[in-house]
Amino acid sequence: MTDTNNTGEKTLGAAPSKTLHLKRPVEQGVVRQSFSHGRSKAVVVEKVKRRIPGPGEAPSREAAPAPTVVLRPAAATPAVAPVAPRGPTSQAAVAKTTPTPIAPPKTGVVLHTLTEEQREARAKALVGARAREDEDRRRQEAEAKLRAERETRERAEREAADARKRDEDTRRAQDADFKRKTEDEARRRLAGGEPSATPAVTMARKPATSAAAPASPVGAASPTARALVADEEETKRVIRRPGAVIQPAKVVLPPRPTRGAEQRNRGRLTVTSATAGEEERTRSVAAFRRRTQRLKGHGLKETKEKLSREIVLPETITIQELANRMSERAVDVIKLLMKQGQMATITDVLEADTAQLIAEELGHTVKRVAESDVEEGLFDRPDEDGAPVPRAPIVTIMGHVDHGKTSLLDAIRKANVVAGEAGGITQHIGAYQVTAPGGAKITFIDTPGHAAFTAMRARGAKVTDIVVLVVAADDGVMPQTIEAIRHAKAAHAPIIVAINKIDKPDANPDRVSQELLQHDVQVESFGGDTLAVEVSATKHTNLDKLLEAIALQAELLDLTADPDRSAEGTVVEARLDRGRGPVATVLVQRGTLRVGELIVAGSQWGRVRALIDDSGANVESALPSTPVEVLGFSGAPEAGDRFAVVENEARAREVAEYRDRQKREKLSARGGVVRTSLADMMSQLKTAGRKEMPIVIKGDVQGSVEAIVAALDKLGTDEVGARVVHSGVGGVTESDVTLAEASKAVIIGFNVRAHKEARDLAERQGIEIRYYNIIYNLVDDVKAAMSGMLAPTLREEMLGNATILEVFNISKVGNVAGCRVTDGNVQRGAHVRLIRDNVVVHEGKLSTLKRFKDEVAQVQAGQECGMAFENYQDMRIGDVIECYNVEEIRRTL
Ligand code: GDP
Ligand code: MG
Repeated sequence: MTDTNNTGEKTLGAAPSKTLHLKRPVEQGVVRQSFSHGRSKAVVVEKVKRRIPGPGEAPSREAAPAPTVVLRPAAATPAVAPVAPRGPTSQAAVAKTTPTPIAPPKTGVVLHTLTEEQREARAKALVGARAREDEDRRRQEAEAKLRAERETRERAEREAADARKRDEDTRRAQDADFKRKTEDEARRRLAGGEPSATPAVTMARKPATSAAAPASPVGAASPTARALVADEEETKRVIRRPGAVIQPAKVVLPPRPTRGAEQRNRGRLTVTSATAGEEERTRSVAAFRRRTQRLKGHGLKETKEKLSREIVLPETITIQELANRMSERAVDVIKLLMKQGQMATITDVLEADTAQLIAEELGHTVKRVAESDVEEGLFDRPDEDGAPVPRAPIVTIMGHVDHGKTSLLDAIRKANVVAGEAGGITQHIGAYQVTAPGGAKITFIDTPGHAAFTAMRARGAKVTDIVVLVVAADDGVMPQTIEAIRHAKAAHAPIIVAINKIDKPDANPDRVSQELLQHDVQVESFGGDTLAVEVSATKHTNLDKLLEAIALQAELLDLTADPDRSAEGTVVEARLDRGRGPVATVLVQRGTLRVGELIVAGSQWGRVRALIDDSGANVESALPSTPVEVLGFSGAPEAGDRFAVVENEARAREVAEYRDRQKREKLSARGGVVRTSLADMMSQLKTAGRKEMPIVIKGDVQGSVEAIVAALDKLGTDEVGARVVHSGVGGVTESDVTLAEASKAVIIGFNVRAHKEARDLAERQGIEIRYYNIIYNLVDDVKAAMSGMLAPTLREEMLGNATILEVFNISKVGNVAGCRVTDGNVQRGAHVRLIRDNVVVHEGKLSTLKRFKDEVAQVQAGQECGMAFENYQDMRIGDVIECYNVEEIRRTL
């Protein structure tokens, strides 16, 4: 075969224009090697193969010709490999692609298996062909010399190729013995064949084994092919590898189906078979490496030099984000997880522990951060150098219900309204500032209840400086008074006692002071240090004294704050306003809050659009201890949320998002999501039989909502309790209704109404929306509803006994007992017990009660009757039937 390509022969399909040649055992071909990455290159291959064709030759082990395959530089492929003589029937397979007359005969592709005749014909032609072959080769060699020039250019490459060839030579040497054996065997078998073939093959094999030598005399290619090569070399620079010299001739691999084991097994020498074998053997180094890598998995990945990174791990992280931070592929992370038996998708959230394992497995180091770190530096930043200035005390009024807290607050506020101010204070903002007679300012916050006060404290907001404890002089210390004292003490807030209602005739301030002693509150008149002022809210008596006392106490506390810093404070109340959006009443505790600043409170943030003070006036800034309404929040924060001014939007968003997540987690925990801690499980077990009344609460202000939630929480018992599915500020929305529907909850609107859409939806879904404006009514109603949920107490009421005298079997009805009522009476539909020898054998109901064939409702003592049981037949004479009623008794909380 020549070094020109061996494709197209099929398509050219014309009758061979040359005489048939016997193929020399040194075969050469150019194959195009395709790579997985889409490129391809041509490789010249040479194959030395011993072949003694003979009729009926069995497939020999020569079928593995690979070891004899030699890779050689394209330029050094002069060998003319005459085709094995073809039978006349194989004409179509032969075609000539090289027009050069001096081109060596072409080898064709055998497209089909040869018949026995063909093979014989070839065998016969072999002898003659061989001589011609030699001649051809000499001619080729001459041509090769002409090409010497060009060869020198490629010599360098070939030398490089030598290294690899030497390797192959050794391999080939190992095969030599095997080959020789095969030859011998073949020769023996083909004893009657052409004896000359064997020497030829042997001869050919020798140059072949050393064919790699660059200066090999058999190094000429047909001029045309050369031209082609040159052409391609210019247009396409192919990466060359030592030992695999590129010959970019336009060669395409022969069609696979036509070659293969079958042909090779027959030992026929064709380029196809030769190249087929060669192709397998000369897989490029890269291809081999790729293949082994494929088989090994991702071996390369491990060998690849890796950058170990420090991964910042929050408490939870998505797989995607983790992969990004490690600069790994997310699939690799998922694979690792799968190895641990955890199926995950890219968006799944991993816990920090799992994420750490993965990161460490992939060779990274981990830096765990708590999510709460985003809040770091948000609050309690140390004051700057600015000198702290005195600030107004923040006062909370607490006390038992109806002791006059609201009245007192109102009285103080009204007393402070500048005379002539139209309409007085129209705004109710939950906190306000008044001026004491001495000129000191005092800030009052209106807390709806003690629980809210504590809730604020629980959220880390120490708002109150002083607690004013209101005790009615006519009522004395009551449970909530004690509660208030506890709250105040827990908050380390000094108490000022306001003994209220001293205008009442039965007022007894001394009794109050005395009772307070029992609770560790010593008023001044009793030798303690607690200030006590006797006031009357309705009569406005001693209000200024109270304010003075507060101012005095504040002086003792030496309250200061630095106004020259970014503001921090607490949300006192928040609501959704129809026109103005979320409105939060905040108390600035440090620094100065200004319009236009970015502010974060709870899970909400926003840019301060406007500040409105307690008299309803727009202000530009708010100093420490000043309560103001803030407009501009994205949503209503919660009462007790701390707020802070942040430097940029990103920070605000980050903090708000973190807190939002926390809130949701808390909510889902409250919603009864299955928890995994043992303690939780135990408490769940304990309350498993508990009936719950799910409630959605919407209120006008956060304070009342919190108060309602707290009140409802207290209603609960071991058996029944209210579960607040959702609570919030604002009107009842469609989403509230949807939520209520999902959790089968009732909706309670406190001082709010449902939107029209929500109302319609609720009507459609049959969800009840109840409106209240008095918290006690609300609590009472919920209590009543929950009472209905308490399992009623069952009480048995004895009716009477009857003794069975006779048992009749009546078709269709079954057994009927004829009895006499011994005491009391027996009623139809009542519960009955069948007692035999003082043992209850059956409990059920009566199906029939007859007296002389008539169904009767009741049979009195002493009378006889017929009785039958529902689903029970086994009565006997002498049994006693006990008849009783069950009474259900509703229970209340
Ligand atoms: P709160 O539940 O503690 O807020 O108490 P309220 O402020 O609602 O007052 C309860 C009741 O006590 C109201 O009817 C008031 O009119 C009445 N009240 C409050 N302060 C005084 C007072 O100083 N003198 C008299 N006589 N009644 C008062
Ligand atoms: Mg009140």
